[in-house]
Amino acid sequence: MARTAIISDIHANYHALSAVIEDMRSMQCTDLVCLGDVVGYNAYPSKCLNYVRDLNCPVVKGNHDEEVVTPSNARMNSTAREAMDWTRNQLDETQLSWLARLQYQRIVRTDTGTTFSIVHSSLDHPKAWNYIINASDASNNFPRQFSHICFHGHTHAPKIFVWDGKHASEDYDNLHPLYLEGFTEFQPLSDLKYFINVGSVGQPRDSDPRACYGIYDTDLNLIIIKRVEYDIRAAQDAIRSVGLPEYLAERLEKGI
Ligand code: ZN
Repeated sequence: MARTAIISDIHANYHALSAVIEDMRSMQCTDLVCLGDVVGYNAYPSKCLNYVRDLNCPVVKGNHDEEVVTPSNARMNSTAREAMDWTRNQLDETQLSWLARLQYQRIVRTDTGTTFSIVHSSLDHPKAWNYIINASDASNNFPRQFSHICFHGHTHAPKIFVWDGKHASEDYDNLHPLYLEGFTEFQPLSDLKYFINVGSVGQPRDSDPRACYGIYDTDLNLIIIKRVEYDIRAAQDAIRSVGLPEYLAERLEKGI
């Protein structure tokens, strides 16, 4: 079995990360990749960073990972900025230099020889941190995507974009069950390219507060996207106890 779990946008939410790790074990995932934004917003940046780092798995850099190392004041609202300044003080030099060394995009090869791409935002301008919201946005990514499948994050909302060689479209049919049952699975067609947003572990923004992650089973040619319940109250308590902005606690239970 070759099953890779794909996690993104953990954002220092250790309660959500723990629940997802437990779930991916129950789903018999053998490997894991991380699409960035390990830190920012929530109360456990050091713990989450150490956990992901010690897995020694493929990780790409997110905009929060970059911002905590190299403050730019770009495209961040005051709440995110306050959390970023707090986060920077929680990390030591070794942790910051690990974040600084992360690549913007990577090709991952599984034990069975399948390759796929990973990036935080999109492959056309990975350092520009563009938000891929719709098929029009995604159409810029595909000419730079040389693999059958690429996984990304950044918007904190799961999506499936498909490229037929000329046009990008959004696959609503295969994503629909995720909102009905908290679970979707589909088999990617070999003559199409897929650009798949696996949602966010630590701060979902699609009005479903449960943690979200993806699984790629290369033996079965199967993509799974799952929601996972976790202890939101405990994550909120942690935010309040360290003095991070109240809004960061409130948004967790709304999934916004
Ligand atoms: Zn993020």
